[in-house]
Amino acid sequence: MLMSANEYRESLRSYKPSVYLNGQLVQSVADEPGFAPGINAIGVTYDYALREEFKPLMLATEQSSGKTVNRLLHINQSAGDLLNKLEAVRLLCQETGCAQRYLSHDALNAIYQVAAQIDDAKGTTENSAKFLAYLHEVQERDLTLGIAMTDAKGDRSKRPHQQANLDSYVHVVERNAKGIVISGTKAIVTGAPYVHELLVMPGRNMTAADAAFAVCCAVPIDAPGITMVARPAGRPGEKAAIFSNRYGQSTAVVMFDNVFVPWEKVFFADEWEHSGTLTHSYATHHRHSCIGARAGFGDLLIGAGALMCEANGFNPADESHLREQMVELIKITEGFYACGVAASVYATQDPLSKSFMPDAVYSNIGKLLLATQIYDMQRIAHYVSGGLIVALPGPDEDHNPATAANLADVLRANPAIPYDKRIETARFIEDLTASYQGGWYSVISLHGGGSPEAMKREIYRNYPIGDKVALVERLLNRGVLANASSPAEIEAERPITQNTQAGKCCDQGCTVPGTAIMVDLPQTIKKSGE
Ligand SMILES: Cc1cc2nc3c(=O)[nH]c(=O)nc-3n(C[C@H](O)[C@H](O)[C@H](O)COP(=O)(O)OP(=O)(O)OC[C@H]3O[C@@H](n4cnc5c(N)ncnc54)[C@H](O)[C@@H]3O)c2cc1C
Repeated sequence: MLMSANEYRESLRSYKPSVYLNGQLVQSVADEPGFAPGINAIGVTYDYALREEFKPLMLATEQSSGKTVNRLLHINQSAGDLLNKLEAVRLLCQETGCAQRYLSHDALNAIYQVAAQIDDAKGTTENSAKFLAYLHEVQERDLTLGIAMTDAKGDRSKRPHQQANLDSYVHVVERNAKGIVISGTKAIVTGAPYVHELLVMPGRNMTAADAAFAVCCAVPIDAPGITMVARPAGRPGEKAAIFSNRYGQSTAVVMFDNVFVPWEKVFFADEWEHSGTLTHSYATHHRHSCIGARAGFGDLLIGAGALMCEANGFNPADESHLREQMVELIKITEGFYACGVAASVYATQDPLSKSFMPDAVYSNIGKLLLATQIYDMQRIAHYVSGGLIVALPGPDEDHNPATAANLADVLRANPAIPYDKRIETARFIEDLTASYQGGWYSVISLHGGGSPEAMKREIYRNYPIGDKVALVERLLNRGVLANASSPAEIEAERPITQNTQAGKCCDQGCTVPGTAIMVDLPQTIKKSGE
């Protein structure tokens, strides 16, 4: 049953997680002011699913049950589904900065695919059936799942089993007839204190020696043995933080100390061969979602940048250097978003699970673009705004009888824009680009979903360079003697290049023009102004 934001907040009361915030044990997550902006942001994913105008984007029909579910808990059945998810994430993140719950979607889709792969390897249907039962429960209860993938990792140059402290990675310490027992640390888990369950997943490819670290399972956040050490979500209670005292994101270090997980919630344990597929699949889905999320953030900067120009007395349409900056901001935002659209259009159907995956090359290029261009986006917001965004008197001066009237007079710019509207916009831009929260948006864009090097490897690994090499060899008339027979002829026809990579995601390579599969047309919502 779909919940509202209020029902979601209330549902958190039935969990009693062990959470520390700023050195204090949190008595009630639902009532903790330090988490309120995070709960508000996830709440929007619930309320939007109940709003008539957003239903085409925010709801989907689960094929395996026929039930209507939140888009962020849905398994993609078409390229159109992926495009709708991308649009839904952008819509949600325009409103909240980061709606967080799309991580649930990304992990559910990844585990769904891996369950089918494990079944195929073992000749059973058991794993898919087990995961489907879990998926239906999550959808029915309209849960939010935190993704516990990034281990503490210890010495980065060593593999999990080589770490001096084995708890640097979550691992299986015991298996028995009822389930497994896990210990270790996941270092960065978005929203952990105020989700319902955690999906524990390996964060890297594993080897046989790392089998104990190849574990994927679901645990409620208050399972005995789990301790979380969290940061506040956004900038709660700060008057100047006019956006991020309302919406933000907490992260937590999650420590597992002999946590029991029953077999029905264990999706794999020790099956190290499948960790690579899981991380690849999750990363591809997640980077695709990150594109939508950061495009929503771009929308906020574009709107605020235009408002700030106006408050300063300029129309960017008439002032060419400001227009140039605004166009640059639009180009960056829509440029990486276009990669998300392309990744949806060139989606491929997973041969085993039959669900749909965004194209890996475009997903990774889009995420790579936003990871570095976030700094350009913030620079542009600073450029068009002026220094006032960090130099403004604080909110307490707004009502100071000794200064308020004078400030309102001397700090007004465009006579048509009241002073309070000008400083409101300036504080909005400071909050999103030049405060602690501004830095947070930079770092989540750079490292969230994997650091840039991870994307570069995926792009190279999946890109069909071999196809392009073959193209050029053909144009150079190499290999024209189809029936070469003498050793000299065979030698002359042998391709010189070792670059025969055809793309790892499928036999043909990732981006074969004209083969996009759009089973469903996306039911996109008209954007405002259209
Ligand atoms: C705000 C935020 C929210 C996040 N939310 C989640 C979440 O909900 N769930 C989750 O699981 N994760 C989450 N992450 C974690 C994110 O996926 C990681 O930050 C990212 O994968 C990088 O890992 P790291 O932070 O440990 O950095 P590191 O791995 O320490 O990387 C630092 C640098 O070292 C390089 N490096 C690391 N290892 C190697 C190596 N072996 N060889 C060569 N170079 C190397 C990296 O490329 C990078 O440049 C979140 C991150 C942020 C910032």
